[in-house]
Amino acid sequence: MPYRLNKGVFDVRCRYPHCPFHDQLEIDQNIMGMTEGDVRSEALKMARDQAMVKHDSIYGRRHGLENPEIRMIGGSCQLVGTNNAAVTATPLGVIIRQYAKGEPIVRRGEEATSLCQVLKGYAYPPMNKGHRYGVGDCFGAAALLPNHSRLTDIVAGNDATEIAFYRLADLKEKEPAQASRLVTNVMEDTLRVMEDLGRAVDRLRKEVDARPARRSLRRVTGSR
Ligand SMILES: [Zn+2]
Repeated sequence: MPYRLNKGVFDVRCRYPHCPFHDQLEIDQNIMGMTEGDVRSEALKMARDQAMVKHDSIYGRRHGLENPEIRMIGGSCQLVGTNNAAVTATPLGVIIRQYAKGEPIVRRGEEATSLCQVLKGYAYPPMNKGHRYGVGDCFGAAALLPNHSRLTDIVAGNDATEIAFYRLADLKEKEPAQASRLVTNVMEDTLRVMEDLGRAVDRLRKEVDARPARRSLRRVTGSR
């Protein structure tokens, strides 16, 4: 359970036409989860439930706060258990964590806040098992831009896989050369992913062309 919510503040607005409900709620419950994404989504649910009660008490139940607009505007998710052997923080503020085989390192859709680098073992996206990240390889390009979420799941390839998590803004200040190496590395990975996609598209195109239904397809396209 390595992440914990630290005073999450949420902005909640009712989407019902002309409803003035717009409130800010602080969630101070002790919410923990395996990833930052888990913690955030749990806290979001809690904020929505609290807002619903408040909304109904002020505006009655003629319409409910069914699909409100919710944003996290304050607080953070913090790593806990840094005294745990599996998680360490370096003097540069880099977090190093160990994973068991198959354990998720990043999950699709969660907020991308750090660049990841394999220090030991390997990692891969279950959607594209041939795409391996070995020692020194970086992934997590979504963290290069603010407010982007992870594009795919990445899991650990074997036990005791070790991953370093870099917050790029911090690293740029303290170790600009290392930061730029990491950025280059992750951009190279992005290009490799695009090549994989291109090959997959070519394969699909060939499969479609080789299908027996080709003749009838030709007839249709030929009649244009
Ligand atoms: Zn409302």
